[in-house]
Amino acid sequence: MKKLHIVGNWKMSLNKEDSLKLAHNIKLINNKDNLNIEVAPTSLYLAEIAEILQDSDISVISQNFDFQNLGSFTGGICLDQLKEIGVNKTILGHSERRSNFNESNEQINNKLEIILNSDLDVIFCFDSYEQVPFDILSTNLKDNSKLKLTLAYEPTWAIGTGKTASIEHIEEIHTKVKETLEENMLQEIPILYGGSVNSSNSKEILDTNNVDGVLVGGASTKIDQLLGIVNSI
Ligand code: PEP
Repeated sequence: MKKLHIVGNWKMSLNKEDSLKLAHNIKLINNKDNLNIEVAPTSLYLAEIAEILQDSDISVISQNFDFQNLGSFTGGICLDQLKEIGVNKTILGHSERRSNFNESNEQINNKLEIILNSDLDVIFCFDSYEQVPFDILSTNLKDNSKLKLTLAYEPTWAIGTGKTASIEHIEEIHTKVKETLEENMLQEIPILYGGSVNSSNSKEILDTNNVDGVLVGGASTKIDQLLGIVNSI
């Protein structure tokens, strides 16, 4: 049975009280063998939530990072700091980082090279086939490090809009990406879909060919929705 991934991106949607409450509720989820569940709280509460969830079946990841090492970069977050608080994975290249924080393809691809050569794992978001840097992947992913990377197809128009891509469209893009990964001997890399996933549409999306999981924004901040998605598997 193939392994599926459910990743919750809490964005900047919850205050401290609601973030901690959600973490305590999530801690009670009993995971299934074929399922990997991760949540990405806002960076302010990462350390506290990583501690709450440390003995649970749920992993805590970051929404972004700026640099590899400590340094004079006001407002930044580095990989060393994430590791120090027990966070070993991060999302990178989310469309909201690209549009609201002006992160360019070049900056994001530079960060991708940094993280692929570090101890941490990464979920790289792309909103078109052309945005996947296959050259960087094939140069930087060696045999024993292929599973450091997860890709997430997130069409920008479907993020937070309530409009989900059709199953045919999701399958078409995922299959095209998977075929190019195969040409580069990288077919093990999981590909998630993100864009208005909720407990009503998750089963159909997760049953789609070449979909290895979902990256969920708004619905992942509501415990009933998150449980509905987990139980749809
Ligand atoms: C996301 O933030 O990655 C996302 C897919 O958001 P939403 O599920 O709210 O569309």
